[in-house]
Amino acid sequence: MAEELRWALIGATTIAREWMINAIRQNGGRIDSVMSSDAARGRAFADEFGIPRSTTSLDEVLQDVDAVYISTTNERHHGECIAAARAGRHVLCEKPLATSYEDAAEMIEACRIAGVVMATNHHLRNAATHRAMREVIASGALGRLLAARVVHAGTLPIQMLGWRLKTAGAGAGALLDLLVHDTDLLRYLTGDEPEEVMTYAQNGGLAIEGIEDAAMSLIRFRSGFLAQVHDSFTTRAQETSCEIHGSDASLIARDNMAQKPAGTVTLRDRNGERALDLDPEDYYVRGTRAFVATIRGEGRPVATGEDGLRSLAVALAARRSAQSGKAERVEGS
Ligand code: NDP
Repeated sequence: MAEELRWALIGATTIAREWMINAIRQNGGRIDSVMSSDAARGRAFADEFGIPRSTTSLDEVLQDVDAVYISTTNERHHGECIAAARAGRHVLCEKPLATSYEDAAEMIEACRIAGVVMATNHHLRNAATHRAMREVIASGALGRLLAARVVHAGTLPIQMLGWRLKTAGAGAGALLDLLVHDTDLLRYLTGDEPEEVMTYAQNGGLAIEGIEDAAMSLIRFRSGFLAQVHDSFTTRAQETSCEIHGSDASLIARDNMAQKPAGTVTLRDRNGERALDLDPEDYYVRGTRAFVATIRGEGRPVATGEDGLRSLAVALAARRSAQSGKAERVEGS
């Protein structure tokens, strides 16, 4: 493989525009092509970002590149990932990996068979806040881990007021969009596995009828650890947060569930409280660096395909629970 990794973007999207083109280029990547289902929009996107080729064809976008970044709507990830893997391309895929457990499992299997690297773009693992929390938890300072409270609630910027609120087939709704991140973060922080979920979904008038624009979930993990999670697109003035409570101490992160490096973490124990020292870095640059290093045989993805499957399984169980009114088992747990 050449020194410079050659990339294709599958999807001319907001996340590519705002974060991932920079992340790929900051890591020495060369973006050779972009695929959009709309030829004119794809061309305009390519021109704006100095990308030499744009196409509407999946076969074409996969030619002469080493890696793809998939950020189309969620129901498209499955077919695009499998095609990329079969063409021998490494895959960095957006969350949720897919809209069904089976599809996500097939994606992982296709990448395994093809021998390509697969990663899920769970960016919150890269936050300085969360890395610092993980270190404190791993040190044992919290004692026995007992409970978490996560608030991943706010408003959607105007460019996100589309399929997320109205296209059920694309995996719309707060659960597939946000709960996957919360779940992944809690798995990353605690090393524990979610087993059961109870969810109440809400429509606060932003999403179309039948799609939740907010939800509250209670997740039970294998060790007995419990997490209470509020996901929402509809609250204007709410601060995001993640609290991890143990028998000896608590960690409290504020303003931390974001795309921009932000947030604080406080450790509270019997001696009082202190703010953790943080070393912030762009989350997407850091995640892409690990993906590239893995391709070069020098590391592992920050979040693997399997991690993406685990977080999706929880969001799907939450959706089932919101329908059934009962606690639902997390598939594969
Ligand atoms: P966008 O709404 O920007 O794009 C999704 C799809 O909609 C695109 O693939 C595109 O189709 C089509 N599209 C984009 N812009 C337009 C337009 N102006 N007119 C008509 N169609 C358009 O998606 P996001 O960037 O918000 O999300 C994409 C993926 O990334 C999702 O899987 C999402 O869950 C994930 N995501 C992840 C984040 C993270 O931090 N990890 C944050 C935000 C999103 P085409 O490409 O065919 O042109």
